[in-house]
Amino acid sequence: MLELDQLVMDFSGFRAVNGCSFNVGQGSITALIGPNGAGKTTLFNLIAGALKPTGGTIRFLGEDVTGASSDVLFHKGLVRTFQIPHEFHRLTVLENLMMVPPGQPGENLFSNWLSWGSVKRHEADVERKAWETLEFLELAHVAGQRAGELSGGQKKLLELGRTMMTDAKLVLLDEPAAGVNRTLLRKLEEKILILNRERGYTFILIEHDMEMIEKLCHPVVCMAEGRVLIQGDFQTVRSDARVLEAYLGE
Ligand code: ADP
Repeated sequence: MLELDQLVMDFSGFRAVNGCSFNVGQGSITALIGPNGAGKTTLFNLIAGALKPTGGTIRFLGEDVTGASSDVLFHKGLVRTFQIPHEFHRLTVLENLMMVPPGQPGENLFSNWLSWGSVKRHEADVERKAWETLEFLELAHVAGQRAGELSGGQKKLLELGRTMMTDAKLVLLDEPAAGVNRTLLRKLEEKILILNRERGYTFILIEHDMEMIEKLCHPVVCMAEGRVLIQGDFQTVRSDARVLEAYLGE
């Protein structure tokens, strides 16, 4: 689904990503791990189109998308969520979901005047999808609450919900476990697994929570100094001496 070939990213002379290559298979949940400064966030920025690589190529669903903008990638089904959930905190939880689908006819003044009926129908479809998403995430009871009042874990669930309002195929999750209490963490894991197994989402996670990685992820890709150190199943990667050494040198 995603092919990274010899990616390089330089920041004014400093090489943050240094010849990084790996593939992500359709239907997988890939964990990206590695010590601080390994280049994980920069790699996410390259994959999601927030940065243009200095070198190398990125292919998504067989198409060369190297240097494509995040907007173009979003429309192709590659969606990134952020480490800090960026919900609109004054809007309700339901409104936060309803505003995600791009290019809604009600956004356009002329279509509002000329085809009011179809605008209303479209809005009703979006609202139905938002409610389905809230039911799935077990957030329906907070639908009318301002998103800013949610707990950290609920915000992560909402962030996942926002990706479900798009036609996402590949979802990049930035530290989904960070700041989430254990109960909501189990729920978040369960929802990610259902989205993967039953709804065909492919995920790449930057994550430090080893329990979550062990439960959800295969393969695990460990980066160090801007490139892939080792990739494989959780046990193989965790017990590799080079991985231990990379973390000790952090
Ligand atoms: P990780 O997410 O694995 O902790 P990052 O991708 O954030 O690693 O950073 C990799 C390296 O690139 C670090 O040494 C970091 O300081 C450097 N870096 C990241 N972004 C920039 C930037 N915009 N300008 C200069 N250096 C950067």
